[in-house]
Order: sequence, then C-alpha cells, then structure tokens
Amino acid sequence: MSDNQLRIVWVYPDLLSTYGDQGNVLVVERRARQRGLDVARLDVRSDQPIPTSGDIYFIGGGEDRPQRLAAERLRRDAHLYQAVNNGAIVFAVCAGYQILGHEFVNDLGQREPGLGLLDVTTVRGEGERCVGDVLADIDPRLGLPPLTGFENHQGVTRLGPTARPFARVQIGKGNGTGDGTEGAYNDTVFGTYMHGPVLARNPLIADLLLKLALDVNALPPSDDRWYEALRNERITAAQQPA
Ligand code: GLN
Repeated sequence: MSDNQLRIVWVYPDLLSTYGDQGNVLVVERRARQRGLDVARLDVRSDQPIPTSGDIYFIGGGEDRPQRLAAERLRRDAHLYQAVNNGAIVFAVCAGYQILGHEFVNDLGQREPGLGLLDVTTVRGEGERCVGDVLADIDPRLGLPPLTGFENHQGVTRLGPTARPFARVQIGKGNGTGDGTEGAYNDTVFGTYMHGPVLARNPLIADLLLKLALDVNALPPSDDRWYEALRNERITAAQQPA
C-alpha cells in the first residue's frame, strides 16, 4: 500500500457480477473505512484497462459466456499479472476463480486458457450441478473460523502442487472433485466457489485480505454481532438435509 491509501479494484462488474459478489467489495471497503483507512475503489469495466496500482482485486462469478469473454480480455490485458507480481492480492469467486487457473471449459464446450495465477484446472463436471449451502473448515494456517457460503457451479476444479486448498468441506461439494477441498490459494491469490457474498458471511476473511494488504498481523477490533447472527443462521441452514 502506498500513499496511505488502500486501492480496491472490482474487475469487470459488467461481466462478472451475476451472483451478488459485488458485496465482497462493499464489505472490504466498509471494514477498511471502519479502521480509519483512506480507501479508493475503482470499478473497471471489461472495455477498460486493469490498473496495476491496486492493493486488492476482486473478481466475481458469472454465467459461462461472460466468463469466456472476461477470460479473453484478462489474457489480452496483462496488467493483472503485473499487479500480482508487484504483490497485489486477488480474491476471486467461482467463474473468477476458474479464470485464475490454467484452464476451464467454456460455454462452447472448449478448453479455455485461464491466467495461470493459481495452480488449478477446471473441467465440466459430469454429475449434477453443485448447488447449495456449504460449511467448510478454512486451512488452519490462515487461523479463521469455519466458512459458510452458497455454491452454484458445474465446473470441477483440481488443484496442482503449488495451490493450497482454501478450505475443506463439512457440508457441500466445494471444488467438486470428491476430495473435500474447497477453493485454492497461494501467497496472495485466493479463489473460492463461495457466493453469499462470501465476505458478508465471513467478515474475518475480509480482514485477512486487509491484513495482507497492510502487511500487519492485527487490525483494530470491529463489532461483528450482526455478522455472527447471519453466520449462525446460515450454518443452521447448511445443516438441514437437502
Ligand atoms: N460457469 C461456471 C460454472 O458453472 C461458474 C459459475 C459461477 O460463477 N457461479 O462452473
């Protein structure tokens, strides 16, 4: 972070904003301001260049066709690579997560190259679409409470050796491979299948992103009673038989 300003970039709201994932941007923005940070938010449409000076980049979920268009444009605009090389944080959901990997299957049934920022590969699942509430334990190295979210995807994502599973599902499908993993991350790049929006349901993940961006171990506390009530409600929902 430079100039004491946190720069949040919402990548392609015109293509990847179908499942309310914009809420992730709002949550990080709000929690940063609550902590007294000066925040600049930039929404970058798919006909605009991605800035390289962002601290945290968000990419949301989307339908198969906009997902392909977004992947094409992100490959052409290499600025996201540059930002990640500069240490930027990326948090991507579902279609956005798949785009960060090596490849996924597009709306034409073809293998579409991703950005290779995460060591994951996505194929089209043969079984039923993965839809429903999820409860998962986040990688203990990240020191966060169990994750709740809502998944809705056909893609099945396999992790390569340099990607760590973001979480392990107690309830739900997650990456859909049957190995219990959900999402993936490396040093500063995170991918998850969780909608919700996931940061509204799991605000401590938002704080993790802020801590990484600020390069600090702790943040001033925040009043999370509202979020806790929502989390508990969703955990109960996830535990109901389908
Ligand atoms: N189109 C992708 C899939 O079905 C991503 C869906 C999404 O973003 N929710 O796997």
